Amino acid sequence: AARETFPGGSRVALGGREVGGGTLALMGGPCSVEDREQILTTARFIAACGATGLRGGAYKPRTSPYAFQGLGHAGVELLREAGDASGLPVITEVMEPGDVEAMAPLVDCFQIGARNMSSAPLLRAVGRAGKPVLLKRGPSATLLEFVLAAEYVLLEGNPHVILCERGIRTFETATRNTLDLNAVPVLKELAHLPVVVDPSHGTGRRDAVIPMARAAVAAGADGIIVEVHPDPSKALSDGDQSLHLHEFQRLAEELGPVARAV
Ligand code: PEP
Ligand code: MN
Repeated sequence: AARETFPGGSRVALGGREVGGGTLALMGGPCSVEDREQILTTARFIAACGATGLRGGAYKPRTSPYAFQGLGHAGVELLREAGDASGLPVITEVMEPGDVEAMAPLVDCFQIGARNMSSAPLLRAVGRAGKPVLLKRGPSATLLEFVLAAEYVLLEGNPHVILCERGIRTFETATRNTLDLNAVPVLKELAHLPVVVDPSHGTGRRDAVIPMARAAVAAGADGIIVEVHPDPSKALSDGDQSLHLHEFQRLAEELGPVARAV
């Protein structure tokens, strides 16, 4: 992943476009796929706003084992259907190495969640699958540890890795995590991989998502990934940080001018 090995910076193909290389990726979708109508409505709406990818969790790494755990494989199938209906490539989290094979034909990009960033067997499994990987930074991982986690995927012969800053644990309690925008320029200096930012998990607060997305783009991020839901008040996970559809539209409108200015 060392920058010296690829000074121009690598690009990851995703749904007929590229992440990295100067264009801005805008990925959105609910924290969890909940039902057909929820994911189809979201997918069609964000596609019309110019989104370049659809996210949605089906296997959820919830803090509490009593909280909604996701729809599992049925959720992956609904996400695929929504991706096809909207023309968007789909990104979803895989938690178990044993699920990679069954999920691979349905997904365009595997997400490795923050809690699993350093799970070597999982990293090797998505490495072997050969599909793009969105690797989230662990909540207390240093940037060097983060890049070394990416190396596990690359070493399996899979170069299609996107790094995602999603906030780290600090003493601050006003936000869920502290979005570490230092990561953007520092990762770009350390590694040649595209870097995207998740201001939803990075802040945990809907009101902070758009400002921090603008800041991430200004800092040089190759893309943004956010949570958006047709009715955040009814979301089964992460409703407090999910944008309403009209807010996603505003986000899409506001990022263009920031991207052109950097
Ligand atoms: C998610 O994307 O919904 C998620 C669980 O993210 P993270 O792994 O960054 O907490
Ligand atoms: Mn979430």
